[in-house]
Amino acid sequence: MAGGRRYRYVGPEEIRREAVRAGSVDLRSAADVVSWMVGEPVTFVVTVDGTLRVAPRRSEHVACADGEPVLAAGELIFAGGGEITEATNQSTGYCPDPGSWAAVAAAAESAGFAHPGRFTYTVVFRRCPDCRERNIVRDDDFTCALCGGELPARWNFGPG
Ligand SMILES: [Zn+2]
Repeated sequence: MAGGRRYRYVGPEEIRREAVRAGSVDLRSAADVVSWMVGEPVTFVVTVDGTLRVAPRRSEHVACADGEPVLAAGELIFAGGGEITEATNQSTGYCPDPGSWAAVAAAAESAGFAHPGRFTYTVVFRRCPDCRERNIVRDDDFTCALCGGELPARWNFGPG
């Protein structure tokens, strides 16, 4: 069992219900990278056992994760030769904190991938305490896009 915060799915229930795991692949070495994964963003999760799993772009993260909690989720771009060149925590299904990078790095390193050392594009997620809407914070504006309520300074989707 790998360390770090576990993120549970926080997106709409109908997406969870309808999400079907299709075409996802556990990456255990650079040899597992095939052509559809190279040069285009792919959906990824890090499973709770620390495995880096990818699925074709626009796959739902909850489907890629079989509905389970994850240590990280977002999108990656692979170059050839086992290198990750771009990484982001953009997953509105799991709304992971930027601190989930540590789990991405650990999973990538255990599979032998070079990586950029950080998310190359970071998304800040908050749940509105008033209307419960999931928000992406832009330009440090901690205001709910739906109701105008104030968003908290700290990540607030989980029990932890
Ligand atoms: Zn709100």
